[in-house]
Amino acid sequence: MTELKALRERQPELAEAIDMHLELLELQRRIQGRVTLPSLDVTADIVARHQAEAKPLLRFEDIPLDMTNLRLMVRQTADVLRRFGALDDADLRVVEAMGRDMKLVEVAGDWYRRAAGHHAVASLGVASSTHASEPHAALDQVLTLAMRPFLSRCAEVVQPRAELAGWTHPYCAMCGGEPDLAVIQPSAERHLICGRCGLRWKFEPLTCPYCRNSDRSQITSFATTDGQYRVYACDVCHRYLKAYDGRRASRPVMPVVDSVATLPLDAAAIQRGYS
Ligand SMILES: [Zn+2]
Ligand SMILES: [Zn+2]
Repeated sequence: MTELKALRERQPELAEAIDMHLELLELQRRIQGRVTLPSLDVTADIVARHQAEAKPLLRFEDIPLDMTNLRLMVRQTADVLRRFGALDDADLRVVEAMGRDMKLVEVAGDWYRRAAGHHAVASLGVASSTHASEPHAALDQVLTLAMRPFLSRCAEVVQPRAELAGWTHPYCAMCGGEPDLAVIQPSAERHLICGRCGLRWKFEPLTCPYCRNSDRSQITSFATTDGQYRVYACDVCHRYLKAYDGRRASRPVMPVVDSVATLPLDAAAIQRGYS
């Protein structure tokens, strides 16, 4: 929070985005404090089996989900996004209706498994066909934020486990989510950071996590002038990933702060034709 406020002083043009994230963070922290730490089994055998099956560790049923708090998160997250112009009226109505619906838990389950299940199915070479609901971009955006307090608590349990080193896939070992940020360690290793639960795991430094292209001539990488951040853009799938360069940093990576601080980098990457 303090870092975000300091960033607002340094880069006033980011003030609106920062204010929105401050409100979202406040909301997440309040709910996260009410979520009990789950007990999850993470042994070397379990990780090895999931690694071999390319299947993330956490089933939807294992998430310590409380429907009252989830509804509250959905409602208040939508409200914050609406106030900052990140949701239009039509989207707001879809999200509000879902927040009241008895099927919210099913929708959340579909959202969760869409990422987690997709990889396992894809790796078996079987076409995916069992999705109960069609994805809705705004609803997905709200669910990603609304589920964070619950998924973050699970990540707290899994993160310290050394057994995680056995996971080498480009999506989250715990929830199957895609990385939306990375951090370069002082050892030059690159760790990906899950966009859903915040878990970090080691991945090859120059392979695209979205399409697994590992041809270095097809990866465009550039750094900010202060050297604090780096972008890896893939010339095969045209997606990009931002990284915080921990080799020359005075503080550890802070995913929310670093995501907002690099909004100008997003603009630069998009301008170059990446998404
Ligand atoms: Zn995750
Ligand atoms: Zn790619």
